[in-house]
Amino acid sequence: QSTMHDDVPLLVSRILTHGSTVHGRSRITTWTGEGEPRRQSFAETGARAAQLAHALRDELGVRPGDVLGTLMWNNAEHVEAYFAVPSMAAVLHTLNLRLPAEQLAFIVNHARDRVILVNGSLLPLLAPLLPRLSTVEHLVVVGPGDTSLLEGCAPRVHEYEHLLAGRPTSYDWPQVDERTPAAMCYTSGTTGDPKGVVYSHRSVYLHSMQVNMAESMGLTTADTTLPVVPMFHVNAWGLPHAVFMTGVGLLLPDRFLQPAPLAEMIEAERPTHAAAVPVIWQGLLAELAATPRDISSLRTVTIGGSACPPSMMRAFEERHGVRVCHAWGMTETSPLGSLAHPPGGLSPEEQWPYRITQGRFPAGVEARLAAPDGGFAPWDGTSPGELEVRGPWIAAAYFGGAGEPPLRPEDRFSPDGWLRTGDVGVISPDGYLTLTDRAKDVIKSGGEWISSVELENALMAHEAVAEAAVIAVPDDKWGERPLAAVVLEEGRETVPYEELRAFLADSVAKWQLPERWTTLDAVPKTSVGKFDKKVLRARYAAGELA
Ligand code: ADP
Repeated sequence: QSTMHDDVPLLVSRILTHGSTVHGRSRITTWTGEGEPRRQSFAETGARAAQLAHALRDELGVRPGDVLGTLMWNNAEHVEAYFAVPSMAAVLHTLNLRLPAEQLAFIVNHARDRVILVNGSLLPLLAPLLPRLSTVEHLVVVGPGDTSLLEGCAPRVHEYEHLLAGRPTSYDWPQVDERTPAAMCYTSGTTGDPKGVVYSHRSVYLHSMQVNMAESMGLTTADTTLPVVPMFHVNAWGLPHAVFMTGVGLLLPDRFLQPAPLAEMIEAERPTHAAAVPVIWQGLLAELAATPRDISSLRTVTIGGSACPPSMMRAFEERHGVRVCHAWGMTETSPLGSLAHPPGGLSPEEQWPYRITQGRFPAGVEARLAAPDGGFAPWDGTSPGELEVRGPWIAAAYFGGAGEPPLRPEDRFSPDGWLRTGDVGVISPDGYLTLTDRAKDVIKSGGEWISSVELENALMAHEAVAEAAVIAVPDDKWGERPLAAVVLEEGRETVPYEELRAFLADSVAKWQLPERWTTLDAVPKTSVGKFDKKVLRARYAAGELA
C-alpha cells in the first residue's frame, strides 16, 4: 500500500491558489491597442476569480456541473473565468468566435451553456445568434460594447465589473473529485459537426506540469509568454494554467492579433516566449520585413497547429535570432502531443533534422502507428502509419450531449481505446515523429502516397512563394494527382510554374512533381488559421481553380 496522499485531488483551484499566493506578484498584461496596457498581478487575479465565483453562485445561481461559455479574446478577464469556473466545480466552455454562426449555435446548445461571458466588442457577433440559443439564461458583458444590441433578448444581461464589485475576495473552493469536468472545447470541425472534448481537473493539472517541463516550453519566473494562440483554441495550448504554476508573466494580445500590433507589443513589452500557428508567424515575418521592430526579447517561439515550414524556422533564427520549437497537438490531446527538442550534444547544424520533425512524445503520451496492413508499424523512420495516442491528457471519447453517454466513433478510437489522430507519419528509432500528412489530405497517386505537406514546405522555401497549399485532385490515369496552389510574395506579379517545378525537383521525387498549378490571392484558412483544404477542394470541384 502506498503511504502517500494519493487522495489529494489534482485540481484547477490548487493551481489558482498556488499562483495567486506563491507567485502573487507575477503579472498579466493585456494589450489595449492604444495607451497603456492593463496590468494586474496574479494575486489580484486570484481575488477577482473569487469575486466572479461568488457572483456566479449567488447572483446567477450557477451550480456545480453547470456549463458556462466564454466568447472572449485573450485578456485578463478571460483568465479569471478560466480559473473561477472550474474551481467552483462548474465547466468552462471556450467558444471559438471564428466558427460559422450555425456551428457556434450548435456547440452552445449541445454543451447546454447556461451562461455566456462575452466581450463587449463581440456583441455584434453574439446578438444575432441569441434567438437560436435554447439554454442560455444569463449574459455577462465584459468590457465596453454596444449593449443596445441586447435589448429585448431573452437571457438576463449583467455587466462584469458591476457583478464583481464588493464581493468577497476569497472563496472556499470545493474539494471535488479530480475526474470532475473542468473545461470543454469543440474541435473546429473540419469535417462534420464539431465534436466536444471535456477536460478533467486531473488532465488540466497534469498537462500544465508537462507544459512547464524544460523539454516542453520550459518557462520560468524570468519569462513572459505571449499566447497569440486564442484562449478558445485548445486553452491557448495550456499556457494560462501553466503560468500559474510557475509565475511566468502573461502578455495577452486581446483582440489585437494583426501583424502590426503584435510586432508593436513584442517591442514594447518584451516577452521572452510566444506561441501561435504558422500563419500568424508568416504574417509577422512579412510585417517585420516591411517595418523593422526589435523583437530580440523573444528567446523561443512555439509553433504548431499545422506543419511549420522549415524555411520559416530558418527565417526566424537567421533574421531575428529567435529559436523556433516545433510542436504537434490537437484539441483531443489538450493539446501537447509532441515537441521537437533535439537530442543533446549536437551542433546547431546537426540539430536541424530533428527540429523540423514534429518532435518527441513526453512520458505522458504513449504513441503507436497503425499500419495499413492492420498491424503496427515499427519505429524505423520509414514505415508509415496512422498515429494513435493515449495518456492522462488525451481524449478517450467525445462528449455525447447532456445526460448522454460519451461517443467513441470507430474512425476516431481504436477498439482498445486509443485516439486515432487522423495524422499519418513515421517515427524514428529514437522516437521523433515526422508527420507526412493528414490522412484525408494525402495524395494517392498510382498506388503511392504523395505528402502534400512535403510539397508545400518545399515550395514555401522558394523566394517568390509566400504560401503554398497542395491538394489531391482526381486524375484518370493515376487516381489522384497533386494540384499546387501558390500565393506569391508581395510585389511579385508572376513566377513561371516551370521554375517552381524545377525548384521542387531538387527536393522531391520526379513522379511527385505537380503538373497542375494555380495562383491564389490567399489560401483559405479555417477558424484557427490552418489551410482549409476542404474549401480548396470544393473550389476545384466547382471549376474555379483550373
Ligand atoms: P482541427 O482538427 O479542427 O484543425 P485541432 O486544432 O485540434 O483542430 O487540429 C489538430 C490537427 O492539426 C492535428 O491532428 C494535425 O493534423 C494538425 N497539426 C497540429 N500540429 C501540427 C504540426 N506541428 N505539424 C503538422 N500538423 C499539425
